[in-house]
Amino acid sequence: YKWFIAAASLATAGSLYSAFVASRKLSKLAPPKEGVADLIGNTPMVKLESLSNSTGCEIYAKLELCNPGGSAKDRVALGIVRAAERKGLLRPGMPDIVFEGTSGSTGISIATICNALGYKAHISLPDDTSEEKLALLESLGAQINKVRPAGIVDPEQYVNAAQRACNDLNSSQEVNSQGVFADQFENDANWRVHYEGTGPEIYKQMDGCMDVFIAGCGTGGTISGVAKYLREKLGDKLTVVLADPQGSGFYNRVKHGVMYDQVEQEGTRRRHQVDTIVEGIGLNRVTHNFSQGEAFIDDAVRVTDSQAIRMAKFLSVNDGFFIGSSTAINAVAAVKVAKHLPPGSKIVIIACDSGSRHLSKFWKAAKQIDPRISLQEVLDSPRS
Ligand code: PMP
Repeated sequence: YKWFIAAASLATAGSLYSAFVASRKLSKLAPPKEGVADLIGNTPMVKLESLSNSTGCEIYAKLELCNPGGSAKDRVALGIVRAAERKGLLRPGMPDIVFEGTSGSTGISIATICNALGYKAHISLPDDTSEEKLALLESLGAQINKVRPAGIVDPEQYVNAAQRACNDLNSSQEVNSQGVFADQFENDANWRVHYEGTGPEIYKQMDGCMDVFIAGCGTGGTISGVAKYLREKLGDKLTVVLADPQGSGFYNRVKHGVMYDQVEQEGTRRRHQVDTIVEGIGLNRVTHNFSQGEAFIDDAVRVTDSQAIRMAKFLSVNDGFFIGSSTAINAVAAVKVAKHLPPGSKIVIIACDSGSRHLSKFWKAAKQIDPRISLQEVLDSPRS
């Protein structure tokens, strides 16, 4: 009987303890949000175990792919819309339209935010944009304007086409709507959302203790905004590293201070000569958003498309982390940087979007890679 009492007490204590642990976990859940736009930001951070164990450094990823529209661009789209509302360019409750020229995640985020806040999205893009992105934009109900691929100085180029479509709407007397051109490359709202949101979140999540921040550059908004904030907080203790894909001009701009026109020439070569599997980063011009943070970028690392493809497979197999191409570039850069750091150093990379955005090109190549690939083989892989 005594044994029975002892066993029953133990069982009760055990279930009370489990209930206590479960309630502690539940108490960490955030209360309901007011709407989808309120879900943007406060993204989680995760330690990449396989890379950390192999390098002796602690490598963390800031999961921007957890935003409701699937990427960091949700923050930018919301920032641009709110700034336009403050200037009276978008009027809540009116059928106003946000125009943008983009073949990437920004269009998806603009369409998502417009749906959430009652506006319309009008997206101009090159007619060779991948089927999956087009399908996503169509599913979100964006108006789509397909133009032929063209260089930035060509009036037919998709960013120029978006600006023109916006001007046409605003000069028309007949319609009730007014439009705003989002202009993510030049718009200050872009780097600001990262300075006010992404940067402070990273600092808090790392308890103010980190050595290196790594990101790529498309518009430059992420690296500029986050680097500016972290530099203010951490000073010279922090090293900011640009992860640049092969052929992009930013690497030589940061490393060797080449002039802007050389950046343009190199980046244009990347567009035309390299089979660019990595998307979203490595542009061919120095944008306003890049120049806002350029002074805070200490170093640059060049990564090949082939290294990125192999890294994506490595992280999927070893960590269950299914990433897009620009995130893979950042992860390769982190391993390269870790080789020169004392053990235990803390590196944070941006995980911009998930592999599901990149099935038709990047993951078509990545899924062919042998799942037993080692980290050394990821780094040793040749240029594609
Ligand atoms: N990754 C992906 C997938 C992107 O679409 C972009 C933006 N084009 C970036 C990274 C780079 O971010 P940013 O524009 O802030 O430089």
